[in-house]
Amino acid sequence: MPATAKSDKLFEKILIANRGEIALRVQRACRELGIKTVVVHSEADRDAKYVRLADESVCIGPAPSALSYLNIPAIIAAAEVTDAQAIHPGYGFLSENADFAEKVERSGFVFIGPRPDTIRLMGDKVSAKVAMAKAGVPCVPGSEGALPEDPKEIVRVTRAIGYPVIVKAAGGGGGRGMRVVHTEAALLSAVSLTRAEALAAFGNPTVYLEKFLTTPRHIEIQVLADEHKNAVWLGERDCSMQRRHQKIIEEAPAPGLPARLLTRIGDRCAEACRRIGYRGAGTFEFLYQDDEFYFIEMNTRVQVEHPVTEAITGIDIVQQQIRIAAGQKLAFRQREIVRKGHAIECRINAEDPYTFVPSPGRITSYHAPGGPGIRVDSHVYSNYVVPPYYDSMIGKVIAYADSREQAIARMRIALSEMVVEGIRTNIPLHQELLIDEKFVRGGTSIHYLEERLAKKKA
Ligand code: ADP
Repeated sequence: MPATAKSDKLFEKILIANRGEIALRVQRACRELGIKTVVVHSEADRDAKYVRLADESVCIGPAPSALSYLNIPAIIAAAEVTDAQAIHPGYGFLSENADFAEKVERSGFVFIGPRPDTIRLMGDKVSAKVAMAKAGVPCVPGSEGALPEDPKEIVRVTRAIGYPVIVKAAGGGGGRGMRVVHTEAALLSAVSLTRAEALAAFGNPTVYLEKFLTTPRHIEIQVLADEHKNAVWLGERDCSMQRRHQKIIEEAPAPGLPARLLTRIGDRCAEACRRIGYRGAGTFEFLYQDDEFYFIEMNTRVQVEHPVTEAITGIDIVQQQIRIAAGQKLAFRQREIVRKGHAIECRINAEDPYTFVPSPGRITSYHAPGGPGIRVDSHVYSNYVVPPYYDSMIGKVIAYADSREQAIARMRIALSEMVVEGIRTNIPLHQELLIDEKFVRGGTSIHYLEERLAKKKA
């Protein structure tokens, strides 16, 4: 072997600390880069095909995630016994847990993500907003920092912002720990309820206030930054189609956004990355209303919706995460990033399309769609049993085409071809939305889906 061969290689072996479609997605990226994979899994995921596909697999505990996918000592022990060099956390689970990242690095492994102190800074939404405001990123008006304890002060701060407001947990995530308040009479009880919930769910009772925007869109900016102070942004995504603050359809680019405004905000995000010494892939989430962007939070990991950005830029975001973690410099500059065409992603969930009740169980028959511009990221197959313990998402369908109109047309065809029998899925809801006049026009607000569902019920 030539002397340089080893240093040319990014890593010999990566451990994937996640499950389902993202575990498979990361595995594919590793294989393409010639890196061996170790997949850790719970007892419930033992027989999954993606587990068998990995070079090695280690069972890290029983089905409940607290005992397996969140079991830090078991994951680190698995890396030790398999001689993995780096750990990819995927999304959810431990991906934004600074203590995990720290323990991974202290144990001598590379954490594929930002430095632990960056995760900590951005994981607290209050400190994240302060840091972003300092870096010149516009934020939603609200309490400057955490809400005080004194009820009189709370009332005063809220009056200054103006109703309606949204009470948010500093440690919140996954659409939880938020409460909208329309009147002063409801304020104090909403604050104490959210505090109590935040303490129980996130171990941190800190809450803060934001102006509740009535017709915003959710627009986010994907960034990549290396250890050498290079940072770029890969365009935006529109994730406004949400239910209970959870995204269900995402697209890139965002329909009808003024290019100049977008460039300005994208450049600010890249600059913010350089200022805070950001490393890895990340997403700046904004609400967008009346031609203004308002930062709400940063996600310091790969996101579920990353494939729409991959489709329009041709950049493999997961492979970039791995290259950055190995200390490589970004191989492209901002002006070399070309965004072309339009991509839409539908999240396929195992749930009733009308009541949204989860629908785990055996998939008796499965057929994935295909054809030009269609990508399916899913770990399921005929006879796969969707376990009841985890998130209900069983895969993602991504449609790419030259125009938005054509991407929608391709997605409609793809979903009409797709067969998932034995369990219920939200495919019928997606099919309704793909012919919805307002969605087809583009630019609906984050409240659109819930308003539509409420109307239908009535
Ligand atoms: P999480 O970390 O739980 O995802 P975010 O802060 O990203 O929480 O907010 C999630 C969603 O909640 C947003 O996409 C939006 O739909 C809604 N939301 C958050 N802040 C506001 C606000 N100030 N006004 C209106 N809606 C908001």
